[in-house]
Amino acid sequence: MGSESAFSTLNLDADIMRAIDDMGFEEPSPIQSKSIPPLLEGRDLIGQAQTGTGKTAAFAIPILQRIERYSGTPQALVLTPTRELAIQVSEEISRLGRYKSTRVLPIYGGQPIARQIRTLKRGVDVVVGTPGRILDHIRRRTLRFDQLRMLVLDEADEMLDMGFIDDIRTILQETPSERQTLLFSATMPQPIVRLAGQYMHDPVRIAIRPEQVSAPDIEQVYYEVRPHERFEALCRIIDSEAVGRAIIFCRTKRGVDELTEQLRVRGYPADSIHGDLDQRQRDRVMSSFRSGDTELLVATDVAARGVDVEQVTHVINWDIPTDPESYVHRIGRTGRAGRTGTAMTLIHPKENRLLKAMERAVKARIKRRPIPTLADVAERQRGIVRERLLQALQDDRLKSYRGLIEELAEEYDSIDVGAAALVLLLDSAGNAGGPSPKDEEFEDTGAEDGMVRFFINVGRRQNVGPAQIVRSIAEDTGISGALVGKIDILDNFSFVEVPRHTAAEVWRAMRNSRIGGDTVSFEPAKPARKNGSF
Ligand code: ADP
Ligand code: MG
Repeated sequence: MGSESAFSTLNLDADIMRAIDDMGFEEPSPIQSKSIPPLLEGRDLIGQAQTGTGKTAAFAIPILQRIERYSGTPQALVLTPTRELAIQVSEEISRLGRYKSTRVLPIYGGQPIARQIRTLKRGVDVVVGTPGRILDHIRRRTLRFDQLRMLVLDEADEMLDMGFIDDIRTILQETPSERQTLLFSATMPQPIVRLAGQYMHDPVRIAIRPEQVSAPDIEQVYYEVRPHERFEALCRIIDSEAVGRAIIFCRTKRGVDELTEQLRVRGYPADSIHGDLDQRQRDRVMSSFRSGDTELLVATDVAARGVDVEQVTHVINWDIPTDPESYVHRIGRTGRAGRTGTAMTLIHPKENRLLKAMERAVKARIKRRPIPTLADVAERQRGIVRERLLQALQDDRLKSYRGLIEELAEEYDSIDVGAAALVLLLDSAGNAGGPSPKDEEFEDTGAEDGMVRFFINVGRRQNVGPAQIVRSIAEDTGISGALVGKIDILDNFSFVEVPRHTAAEVWRAMRNSRIGGDTVSFEPAKPARKNGSF
């Protein structure tokens, strides 16, 4: 399926295509599909689109396609307003350029200039930096732009807000006038338009304005979450809602695979669907979703387009989509055939503007909801027990137990007897709601013999390494670090094994502990269980 993606119509080098595929992008976002062709022709370009719409790759891909390797001096320069953005953009260009071995260097204040100079001497193809520091290097003659072919002003409106406009002018004057100039911005205030008029040659103008599209009449809500709490928030949402069948959307194939894995580790019946699956695999996943064996289907936009399943109770946007049309496509998967559904979107605080754009485009209010508390989750679990009790009250077999209860009720309070029956029911299913470590929790965790495997919801991306995990277990439990077994660090989560006899203590201590400054979720790794059943 990947071969049909619109990226393949752009005639990009095979090594760029391979990197795009590695990143898990299935198709270009609107700003990318409109900008990349004129940029490949060498045109100047002004691109306007909201934050979060994929502007970085819109210029990174043409840069990588157009520059020549190993010329020694920088051929492309990207100016960004902040050091964080310089790092992010430089990482994205490096990732997209990994098979071309493109050398990308972020340059920003606050880093020893001597080190930057050493790296520059070794030769760099693309420089990404904040205007102040770049100007510094130009003045010291440690950066020369006489070979520069492409210059990008990224997030131009923010650079204007930060007072960089004069620095930008000076830098522009230091570069060859036949360079290709690109300007990307979420908004187009006058000074930016004037700057473009002065320094660009007949630029192509592209504005991705949210088109008006009508959204189905379903409840739309959003949750604002910080990256490290995103997964926990998702679990609580699922646990506190009456989720029957849900589709959870991610932007990338990799995102889909990672999230599915994380959900499974937590015991949710989740499966994934994206462009790398062949027809047979897709059919298998879809039939399991239809039958209800899979409650959570994690999908990319492209893969979900063909999905037609009734009774999808929830659409959850793990990532907010890059454009309103995708948003409408996604949420249209629920609330079909007159049934009610709910669409939920998790956003980073920075994505508020993008969310507002979705709201305007769909002409509907997307209401903010607080992340469910543990009490909400418990409330929902009680609701489930209540429903099951009410069902049981209709059961014929009730009669055969009445005598026993009558007997007990002579001696004990009948409400207590009822409550005791529930304790039995919930305990026997290993889902007691209360967090007392039960031996069964430590079975089947996938650990080596004599060990118990634990899941931790932080990983490489949160800068967590094996040493840190061993240290926090040793510090928080008093168990020698030497007893800690196998550790696997993945992008967003990790696993650690500890000896069976220490498992209860480790769990108790680590449940509320911190790793790398954040409280983390620390749970025995679990085989798949059916969500919500006891
Ligand atoms: P902007 O600069 O417009 O704010 P970014 O370039 O930072 O947006 O992209 C936002 C996110 O979307 C990033 O995580 C990026 O990796 C992802 N992204 C970009 N293009 C695509 C695509 N074609 N498919 C899926 N995800 C993408
Ligand atoms: Mg950007």
